[in-house]
Amino acid sequence: MCIFCNLNKDLILLESKYSVLLANYFPLSDFNMMVIPKRHVYSITDLSVEESTDIMGIITMAVNNIKTLVKPEGINVFLNEGEIAGQTVPHLHFHIVARNSNDVLENFKRNGEKDLITTDQLKLIKSLF
Ligand SMILES: [Zn+2]
Repeated sequence: MCIFCNLNKDLILLESKYSVLLANYFPLSDFNMMVIPKRHVYSITDLSVEESTDIMGIITMAVNNIKTLVKPEGINVFLNEGEIAGQTVPHLHFHIVARNSNDVLENFKRNGEKDLITTDQLKLIKSLF
């Protein structure tokens, strides 16, 4: 069963017609959100034009909120396609990660324990929307 087709509602930040913005259950940094299409697709090339447009709008809005409210030094927006590239859930998802010079992207562990989002991290992210 796909975890993005059966989302933990606590992680949802907002929804649009075709996509959902959510906090990452296994955050790569303090501010790691994801945007997913509501429809289960594997690849960016599986999206319709309407879905692509909708997702890009959500990504842009989220980046704008992070820039305005969090003021990080930088922001990563990326997707991983294929296991070799680090895709662990076969449902397309874009990561949005606030970056600062003293941080390290963590939680790329493929095996073993991953660090779950903390209550404080989730509260901070939810305060942006
Ligand atoms: Zn799915």
